[in-house]
Amino acid sequence: MSSSISERITKIRSTLPQGVKLIAVTKKVPSDKIRLAYEAGIRDFAESRIQEAMGKRTELEDLSDITWHFIGHIQSNKAKKIISNFPWIHSLDSLKLAQRLDRLASELEINPLVCLQVKILPDPNKSGWNIDELKGDLPALALCKRLQFQGLMTIPPLGLNDVEILDVFKRTKELATEIRDRNWQNFKMSDLSMGMSGDYKIALQADTTMVRLGTILFGERPL
Ligand SMILES: *Cc1c(COP(=O)(O)O)cnc(C)c1O
Repeated sequence: MSSSISERITKIRSTLPQGVKLIAVTKKVPSDKIRLAYEAGIRDFAESRIQEAMGKRTELEDLSDITWHFIGHIQSNKAKKIISNFPWIHSLDSLKLAQRLDRLASELEINPLVCLQVKILPDPNKSGWNIDELKGDLPALALCKRLQFQGLMTIPPLGLNDVEILDVFKRTKELATEIRDRNWQNFKMSDLSMGMSGDYKIALQADTTMVRLGTILFGERPL
């Protein structure tokens, strides 16, 4: 890519509707590049591995108005460190984890903002609830009073065409709306965390509110 990080950010920003949050995914991106994205106006950043994230967090401590989002699978022994350091969790993928986070959040006296990760189509490579499982777990999730359920997160399985991807995103939105309409106290359900570099334009067609972009901003990640 010949354009700079700042040029790419400006260009993509100009295509996003008002109210859609651009979250820069900085896994495997060194902190000097994160700084460039910050200078270009980004304030929401996402990481998927706690160990990698904490080193960079120290280097970026002076950028105190960043909101950090966690988007990776959460192992139970890392849960406390993760919710202590990330106000947003997009990858809440099981009732058991929700209950653990709720207990930890009580201890820490915090109210984490969370998205429930859903699988609209079966996908052995991803964690998360399928639609029926999630509906079944909702009453138990509602007892996790410390968690603020902001919405749903999804990643379509690999190998779908654009029409199929759009369908996954639309069904995710329908599910979020259905849950929101129950008007349960800690279920705000107004956010959709959908869309990565390859499919964010499709996610916009399904009214996503948060796009998580890595490669398209920072270039290919090293393997
Ligand atoms: C890596 C990652 C992204 C960003 O992916 P790109 O294709 O590089 O934009 C978004 N969401 C999650 C959950 C990720 O792990």
